[in-house]
Amino acid sequence: MNQLRMSKKSKQSPGLTNKQALVMNLLGKTKGPLSAYAILDQLHDSGFRGPVQVYRALEKLMELGLVHRLESLNAFVACQQRTCDHQSKKTIIFTICEICGSVQEFVNTGLEHLVRSLEKDIDFLTNRSVIELKGICSTCKD
Ligand SMILES: [Zn+2]
Ligand SMILES: [Zn+2]
Repeated sequence: MNQLRMSKKSKQSPGLTNKQALVMNLLGKTKGPLSAYAILDQLHDSGFRGPVQVYRALEKLMELGLVHRLESLNAFVACQQRTCDHQSKKTIIFTICEICGSVQEFVNTGLEHLVRSLEKDIDFLTNRSVIELKGICSTCKD
C-alpha cells in the first residue's frame, strides 16, 4: 500500500504516495507552519488514523527536501525554494514572525561562504544547517 501512486500526480511532487501527497498539499496551501497533530487533525477524514502515519509521510517529504521542520516550533512548513534536497548542505534561513506566524525561507550566498570557511577553520563537517530568525515581518511592522 505504501507504494501506491496517486492517479493525479501533481507537478511538484512526483512519485509520492497518496498520504505523502495529502500532507504535501496541506502544507503547500497553509501559510504558517503546522504541527504534526494539526496535520493529523485536518487529514483525519482523509484516512490518517494516528500521528505515526503523519510522521512517516513528513519524514519522506523532508528527505526529498519538500518540507522542512522548524525546530523551535516543532512544526513543519513546505519548502519555498526549489533546490532544498537534503543532499545539498545549504544553510537554510527561516524568518518566523512572532505576530502573524508567517514563515519565509531564504538561502544567502554570503552566509553560505561564511559557513564553509568556518567549517574549515574549526575542522567540522556540517550535515545540516538551519537558522531560525524570530521577529516581526514587514507586514506586521507597518
Ligand atoms: Zn527549502
Ligand atoms: Zn507578521
